[in-house]
Amino acid sequence: MLYKSLKNYEHIVMFDKAVINGLAPNKGLYYPVKIPILSNNFIENIQNYNIFDICLKVIKYYIGESLSEKDLLDIIQNTLTFQFPLHKIDDNIYSLELFHGPTLAFKDVGAKFMACCLEKIQYNNKITVIVATSGDTGGAVANGFYKISNVEVVVLYPSGGISNIQEKQISTLGDNIKALEIEGTFDDCQKLVKNVFLDQELQKKLKITSANSINVARLLPQMFYYFDAIKKIQNKGYEIIFSIPSGNFGNIFAGMLCKAMGLPINHFIASTNINDTIPRYMKYGKYEPKKTYSTISNAMDISDPSNFVRIQELYNNDIFSLKKDLSAYSFSDQETLDIIIKVQKKYNYILDPHGAIGYLGLLKYLYKSNYKNNVIGIFLETAHPIKFIDKMPNFFRKKINMPISIEKLLLKNKKTIKLSNNFKELKSWLLNNNK
Ligand SMILES: *Cc1c(COP(=O)(O)O)cnc(C)c1O
Repeated sequence: MLYKSLKNYEHIVMFDKAVINGLAPNKGLYYPVKIPILSNNFIENIQNYNIFDICLKVIKYYIGESLSEKDLLDIIQNTLTFQFPLHKIDDNIYSLELFHGPTLAFKDVGAKFMACCLEKIQYNNKITVIVATSGDTGGAVANGFYKISNVEVVVLYPSGGISNIQEKQISTLGDNIKALEIEGTFDDCQKLVKNVFLDQELQKKLKITSANSINVARLLPQMFYYFDAIKKIQNKGYEIIFSIPSGNFGNIFAGMLCKAMGLPINHFIASTNINDTIPRYMKYGKYEPKKTYSTISNAMDISDPSNFVRIQELYNNDIFSLKKDLSAYSFSDQETLDIIIKVQKKYNYILDPHGAIGYLGLLKYLYKSNYKNNVIGIFLETAHPIKFIDKMPNFFRKKINMPISIEKLLLKNKKTIKLSNNFKELKSWLLNNNK
């Protein structure tokens, strides 16, 4: 499979190059030149295939010659070491739980897949993966890349700006995982990473890539759980609707790609917090990012979502055809907390703040479109509620069980490198670290 840059259709590379580069040289996002269509026969008989075969069939077109089929199957098996349960909340409403991986967030899938790809793809020198995190990405990337040979991982996070669990997930592994505790905000961390990619000397001396969802190796495996959910639903004449709590819009793009390949999904809902650039775009047709606000669903505190251009490309930049497949709604922190408490009382099920927004979006869509009995609504539950326990009301905290893995993690001591938000300091650290 070939990938073009969305800023220059002439710049075309294979999968392995797209993974190593992260972004195209002109900072364009990579996008598949052609989207494969799966046969009706396969889709209709999806129940008869096991999950590994389904994933192999779905993703192999996108990998092309870059990896052998055997390597690819290995990678899939190493990635999918946990389940994606479909938890029934109410008649025709399901939570697709994506948080049963090692760091309790859906990003484990993409991070592990990308790490395994880099391990198999041939390159001559050591590669440095650099990533700025506002919480979940750092842990998933650190865990996915831990002890992968020839890969050095550098995670930048704002000192005091992430939860205790998240910090321990990044800073207690050691080995090839370096945790840089930056005196500054998440925006400072992101700016530092951007500067690393713009710095000629660093680019010449080190091989550096990014593990954010702009990287196709993180993005594409997110298709797996949409296929798995449809397989489990055993679709018998139902309309299927997915609501996705969205920040950078990578997870929802993966779902829309599944539909483009032939997976029977009728509609998507992009559910956001008050960082509502896309809901406003869908309503008024103008893309106008505002300043980013902090919310209790902090993994979605993004006002200029990088993957949205991929969604626009998928719909030929035609907002009218996009509207047929996509609705978008935003919700406040108060609405989020209220629904978490309500769902716990009514169904004895605990949502995390991100999943809660997914659920709210689904309810709003079903209400607006005159809820019909032949609809199945699925929202993505993207993280375990324990990760956001400090955002929950006091009386509610004791209701959330602490997984044993987290109890053990919290006993470990963090090891970090403290740096200011001055780029020169980061640059000399990177150069010394790679001597
Ligand atoms: C990253 C993240 C999201 C947002 O996913 P995108 O692919 O960036 O839209 C939602 N929920 C949680 C818990 C996350 O960590």
